[in-house]
Amino acid sequence: MGVIPSRGGTVSIDTPTFQSTEPATGEVIDSFLDMTSDEVNATVDRARIAATWWADLGWDARRERLLGWKALLARRADQLAWLVHREGGKPVEDALLEIALSIEHLTWAAKNAEKVLGERRVKPSLLTMNQSARLSYEPFGVVGVIGPWNYPVFTPVGSVGYALAAGNAVVFKPSEYTTAVGQWMVESFAQVVPEQPVLQIVTGRGGTGAALCAAGVDKISFTGSTATGRKVMAAAAQTLTPVLLELGGKDACLVDADADLDKAVDAALFGAMGNAGQTCVAVERVYAHEAIFDEFLDKLAARARMLEPGSHPTSSYGPMTVAAQIHIIREHVQHAIECGGRVIVGGDEAVGERVVHPIVLADVPENCPAVTDESFGPVVIVNRMRDLNDGVDKANASQYGLGASLFGSDRTALAAAARRLRTGMVSINSWVMYAGVPALPWGGVGNSGFGRIHGPDGLHEFARSKGVVRERFTSPLVLTSFSRRPDTGALVSKALVALHGRRTWRS
Ligand code: NAD
Repeated sequence: MGVIPSRGGTVSIDTPTFQSTEPATGEVIDSFLDMTSDEVNATVDRARIAATWWADLGWDARRERLLGWKALLARRADQLAWLVHREGGKPVEDALLEIALSIEHLTWAAKNAEKVLGERRVKPSLLTMNQSARLSYEPFGVVGVIGPWNYPVFTPVGSVGYALAAGNAVVFKPSEYTTAVGQWMVESFAQVVPEQPVLQIVTGRGGTGAALCAAGVDKISFTGSTATGRKVMAAAAQTLTPVLLELGGKDACLVDADADLDKAVDAALFGAMGNAGQTCVAVERVYAHEAIFDEFLDKLAARARMLEPGSHPTSSYGPMTVAAQIHIIREHVQHAIECGGRVIVGGDEAVGERVVHPIVLADVPENCPAVTDESFGPVVIVNRMRDLNDGVDKANASQYGLGASLFGSDRTALAAAARRLRTGMVSINSWVMYAGVPALPWGGVGNSGFGRIHGPDGLHEFARSKGVVRERFTSPLVLTSFSRRPDTGALVSKALVALHGRRTWRS
């Protein structure tokens, strides 16, 4: 129990607390309230008032505020990167990269919100020529954003930034493992928008997230594991609250026979091991063409052996942020070996107390958990493909479908493979670069979730469309009246044949 001040606070002094600690040392960073339903509900009530104020500000004023926030984030990026490093364990440079991408998205959302969501006229049809028609996109009101710990800036900004740009107030529940970063973000926003609590934080563990789902928010944007996503959707079903689910993945990287192997190795290695593999779009499976399989594997292994994980700010990657994940990694590796998979680098002994050293396994049967389930660690499986088609079939034989990467030289073949992949995102001859193009959507299919953040789709996700028609003049053919002309039916029939009776199509 504790007495911790809270912004706008209506928290009870009996509210339990939890601590956020450095993964590397266990040192306490800060204590936070493990908020109950009452506190979450009170926060959502405050957000409702702020939502009206924020929506009434209009596009220009909101854009200026959001651009002011991104400028502040850019000026203080070093400070934030250091906090991300301390609380999550990733190297400072990786944290900076995450912040840079987040700022790009915030800027794009702020600058494009009116263009994408602004009210506009649309054409009526010939039968409704007397109507003027307008389409608008209204904010939902209060959006609840629940975030994970692996990208504690980039992931929430994809929802928070786009939801704010669309005119919503946001109540943000960061992961209990990265609450200090979440609090930093919310406090920095309040410096730019001090008038109303447009962006608020609720701190806590899973129970606080569940309370937010039940607090009457108008939309829930959840990023986290598939298992928790199911619970969030079940909770949202009670109130028919719309949900956006950004969940786990088991991304594949396909390396064709004509690929630039050094480039493919470099990208696949960073995609697999960067951030200790704790990336939803991490390269967890590689399918390399039989013709270059051995060469690719040798090069990958040599580079993997050179990595130096640890808790130094400039280590290749950091310790596992959440200790519990280590058991899953160990299980996957042991099972893969029992199934006949070959250990190329690392193996069971690479799984330490907190730091997991690089693990490369090859020829692991496709039905092993290490191939089918998310490992979320610095482990990569390298299996063979006969050709790109075979690789796509293997990549697609997954419960997940988040991202994928392709390496090769034949642009036509790569484009065809990209179309066939059952994923939300594909990167050709690079890893994850779609994340750096703010106009592109981000999201998955299957157990990777549904709905999209980023780009125009990401703005539409946080607004509801509304259609309005206004009669400009009385139509000679009134359709919706009991006193319509007796020959209305005959006229409509003739009009239908004239307008739609031809089989050919002309625009
Ligand atoms: P998690 O599901 O354990 O937790 C995510 C968030 O949900 C946390 O804030 C947690 O407190 C909260 N939560 C827990 N129980 C809840 C409940 N019953 N109701 C509401 N909220 C609840 O996930 P994690 O371990 O924090 O994150 C790792 C997972 O997130 C991985 O599977 C990863 O692939 C996925 N992820 C996906 C994306 C994406 O964009 N698709 C991005 C980052 C991470």
